[in-house]
Amino acid sequence: MSKVISLLKNIVSMKSVTPDDGNILQYIANCLPEFKAHIFERNGVKNLFLQRKFGDGIHLCFAGHVDVVPAGNGWNSDPFIAKYENEYIIGRGTQDMKSGVASMVIALQETKNFNGTLSLLLTSDEEGDAKDGTIFVLEELAKIGNLPDFCLITEPTSEEKMGDVIKIGRRGSITGILNILGKQGHSAYPHRAINPVHLFANKLQYLAGHLFDSGDQYFNASQLVITDIRGGMEVSNVTPNNLKIMFNIRNSTATTLENIETYVKNICSDLNYSLKISVGSKPFLTNRDSLIVDLLYQSVKEVCQIEPNLTTGGGTSDARFMAQFGIQVAEFGVLNTLIHAVDEKVSIDEVEKLYKVCLELIFKFDLHGKGLK
Ligand SMILES: [Zn+2]
Repeated sequence: MSKVISLLKNIVSMKSVTPDDGNILQYIANCLPEFKAHIFERNGVKNLFLQRKFGDGIHLCFAGHVDVVPAGNGWNSDPFIAKYENEYIIGRGTQDMKSGVASMVIALQETKNFNGTLSLLLTSDEEGDAKDGTIFVLEELAKIGNLPDFCLITEPTSEEKMGDVIKIGRRGSITGILNILGKQGHSAYPHRAINPVHLFANKLQYLAGHLFDSGDQYFNASQLVITDIRGGMEVSNVTPNNLKIMFNIRNSTATTLENIETYVKNICSDLNYSLKISVGSKPFLTNRDSLIVDLLYQSVKEVCQIEPNLTTGGGTSDARFMAQFGIQVAEFGVLNTLIHAVDEKVSIDEVEKLYKVCLELIFKFDLHGKGLK
């Protein structure tokens, strides 16, 4: 069995349901004794930052999380004992993202020369609140001027075939709660009441499904999606005094909270209403010409024999924090078909390829640093 598969099996069998790291962080620090280890701990959450300076060039960081979501019921084998079957490893976290962690660790272990600094940032707070994890480590690294220049996060990004998707950004998420205010009354005397449903009826069409931008090569259009709408008290003779509408927009970098607020306020300008809008996460996009995207693209293409698509789809990830600190970040990993699902598994072939991509990326950054490419 190869080193990367053997490490994967070991850490899958270390139960690390978020935010518990299951002692994986210490175990990994021991795997890389030549790296200087820092443990960053806050509110019971442990994070590990390993760093090795080989030379004076760029700082390339590998990052990810060791925590997993709970197993749930209905597994055919123990989710916290890695099982090998038909060229697959089965267990919680095999796709999301212990195969990524194992690949990064072994690639770093195998690297003997590099024209710069290599590091590994691992958190056990990604699947939970994500407040004391990656963001906290970056805050601390920023204080001492030790932020990486580039980062690869090995979250599972492949969709149908290993290597088909690299993520170079993520959409943001903005949530709104709109309350249209009226005056409750009897349905037999509508003239005495102010019915917010009637007031808003012909305005709903401007809200539902509205596109704030038309999207581009990397982002889908930013669409307003209504998630809840309610008013009244489920009877047929009382008109409501309030109509509450909740909505969410997964936004690209072209649409901001201010754009959305102005638009909704314009629609409601002749109404009595209240509006609360908040940003859940900000969108970001790493430039296609950035070294991390370019060299990762080449590495994936060579190792997986496929031309990867560069996308920004899916939910949020810790990459958003990297972007916030000005780190050029991309994400690439194994298939994500069974993440958070029962009987999660990963093929040996995918993990071996991911490990080779990590190694190839280090090699290409090294060549680039030496001015050879
Ligand atoms: Zn993940």
